[in-house]
Amino acid sequence: MKSNKKKEKEIREGGYMEFSLTEMVQEQVEKAFSCTDIPEYVQNILKCPKLILEVNFPVRMDDGHVECFKGFRCQYDNALGPTKGGVRYHPEVSKEEVTALAAWMTWKCALVDLPYGGAKGGVACDPTQLSETELERITRRYTTEIMPILGPHLDIPAPDVFTTSKTMAWMMDTFSMFKGYTEPAIVTGKPEVLGGSLGRKQATGRGVAIATRELYKNLGKKLKGATVAVQGFGNVGSHAAFFLEEMGAEIVAVSDSSCGLIDYDGLHLEDLTECIEKHQCLIQFSKMKPCERDEVLYQDVDILIPAALENQIREDNADNIQADVVAEGANGPTTPAADEILEKKGVHVIPDILANSGGVIVSHLEWAQALSGLRWEEEEINQRLEKRLVSVFDKVWKKAEEKKISLRTAAYVVAIERIAEVYSYRGLFP
Ligand code: NAD
Repeated sequence: MKSNKKKEKEIREGGYMEFSLTEMVQEQVEKAFSCTDIPEYVQNILKCPKLILEVNFPVRMDDGHVECFKGFRCQYDNALGPTKGGVRYHPEVSKEEVTALAAWMTWKCALVDLPYGGAKGGVACDPTQLSETELERITRRYTTEIMPILGPHLDIPAPDVFTTSKTMAWMMDTFSMFKGYTEPAIVTGKPEVLGGSLGRKQATGRGVAIATRELYKNLGKKLKGATVAVQGFGNVGSHAAFFLEEMGAEIVAVSDSSCGLIDYDGLHLEDLTECIEKHQCLIQFSKMKPCERDEVLYQDVDILIPAALENQIREDNADNIQADVVAEGANGPTTPAADEILEKKGVHVIPDILANSGGVIVSHLEWAQALSGLRWEEEEINQRLEKRLVSVFDKVWKKAEEKKISLRTAAYVVAIERIAEVYSYRGLFP
């Protein structure tokens, strides 16, 4: 296999920016394996997905013609419990992508001590070109195709890129129709009226802010007055910005796919949210001049939050990052080669599996509410999220200190050691 540095260079020179997520996750995990003494057979189990289902299904489109779509569901590992992970609708969805994302979910759930394995699924389609009725038919048919491996104690989907609470409502309804009873625990991220948890929408951004606050505390620094740049002012990025502002930080730069906005006197977040609600993009913000969206990444700020997509901080641009702290709201925003550069520069990176774990923590609370038939107040949800994240952050920080490794490798080590311990108790059959 080519070294990742070499591959990143080739990708750049060829103008093809996508870095293999599978190689990225493999490299991160290999690094963590070398810091543990878990048995080789467990390492081998964890190097491959347990199950991948690939489906090909027809859907009648609005104009009457029939189109075929490819869908996937990968259950990476289920030693800790039923698998959990989002469903993505995107033209680039592939077996390889869902496998890498399912692996990340496995490490994330293990890290934050949830009784879940990791999964991910998706349909290769362009949702921006599909009507709502077409999306509903695709969702219902995809759910039917993967039904044999779904279940509240088997595999529980959630929203991901270009899927929403409405998608989850259609999945839940399809599953319930076939079973003959209503099964709210089959998905999380549902609309609140169907049993969606209070606080779920804000949970990932809230978690990013909590993890950043904990890092600052451990570094002996104060968040008050710290400057923040947020790449991707969507669900995760905007909520992280609001919570960090509440904690005393100042948001000075934000971007979305349309542009960047920078003001070192501080941005007015309510105005930005209003603009997004009205126009769905920041470029329509009339109160200031927009800049190139990538400029936001390179600002001289204290904290950078990449909350857009994977592969944003790479070997070719990592040197331009000026922030002292990078809190990864998105999954996989930093490539391994960029990680090394940031480490040498002394940048503290809060890895995605820790920083953005607030979403799955509250998804677990949603599932627990559905199974128990109870409904918890938002305050209780937020307190539980806070308590768990603070304790996990502490565990990762201590592991990093003990082994003199980065927070990313430490987070993987904590996750891998937990899964290995579970395998050691469960044993092998026969
Ligand atoms: P979202 O669609 O609500 O927001 C994404 C934002 O990124 C949008 O504002 C989009 O315009 C912007 N964007 C896209 N390309 C960009 C670019 N090149 N430069 C700047 N901005 C760009 O999605 P989200 O739910 O906020 O998810 C963001 C990331 O966080 C994804 O990687 C997702 O997998 C990850 N994540 C989300 C959750 C969750 O609960 N929503 C949980 C864990 C991880």
